[in-house]
Amino acid sequence: MNLQEIIDDSKRIVFFGGAGVSTESGIPDFRSQDGLYNQKYKYPPEQIVSRTFFDNRTEEFYEFYKDRMIFSEAKPNAAHLKLAELEQAGKLSAVITQNIDGLHQAAGSKKVIELHGSVMRNYCRKCGGFYPLDYIVKAEGIPKCEKCGGVVKPDVVLYEESLNGDDIDGAVNEIMAADTLIIGGTSLVVYPAAGFVNYFNGKHLVVINKSPTNADKNAELVISDSIGKVLGEIIVR
Ligand SMILES: [Zn+2]
Repeated sequence: MNLQEIIDDSKRIVFFGGAGVSTESGIPDFRSQDGLYNQKYKYPPEQIVSRTFFDNRTEEFYEFYKDRMIFSEAKPNAAHLKLAELEQAGKLSAVITQNIDGLHQAAGSKKVIELHGSVMRNYCRKCGGFYPLDYIVKAEGIPKCEKCGGVVKPDVVLYEESLNGDDIDGAVNEIMAADTLIIGGTSLVVYPAAGFVNYFNGKHLVVINKSPTNADKNAELVISDSIGKVLGEIIVR
């Protein structure tokens, strides 16, 4: 079967996506550009985007974060839009993403499990007060709570932090209930993505990624191409 036939044959698709979905909206994977960072930042990105670094060097964290991880002008691409359309048509039950940019919701998707959190949500460390992305972008230096002066932290899972248990359960349950799992824009090497796929027990496993992934050997269909191009061509019926 080709992808169109598989989607026509599916009633409960789950999409599991990674950085490759966002790069086509102009959002680079911050891990893939060490060379560039080394010229400007004193620390490797993995160290900056860690909880220890956030706690101890908050101002430097925010410099990097605002410069390299926030892309306010990014728009959903054809992949985001098609997934929202599939959900609207009752064919897709959930998007599970490792991305933090909120582009699936911007495209209209309702059920989105954000394993690594979202830049759209920010909370005061002291009182729990909520702040939108705009507040972080406009803040000078360290964003502080208007009510209590506490440091505001993005609801993004940093290195050294664990994933939200409800998100893990939700992702596993969705994958277990799916008849089709489409893995897109991720090489599936980052924990826990690789493990999630083992819960899939449905009919069709599809991988769409420009480079080989750990799931290729088990997939019914492997497409080595742009995720936006491939999903964009799908007709929802
Ligand atoms: Zn506060």
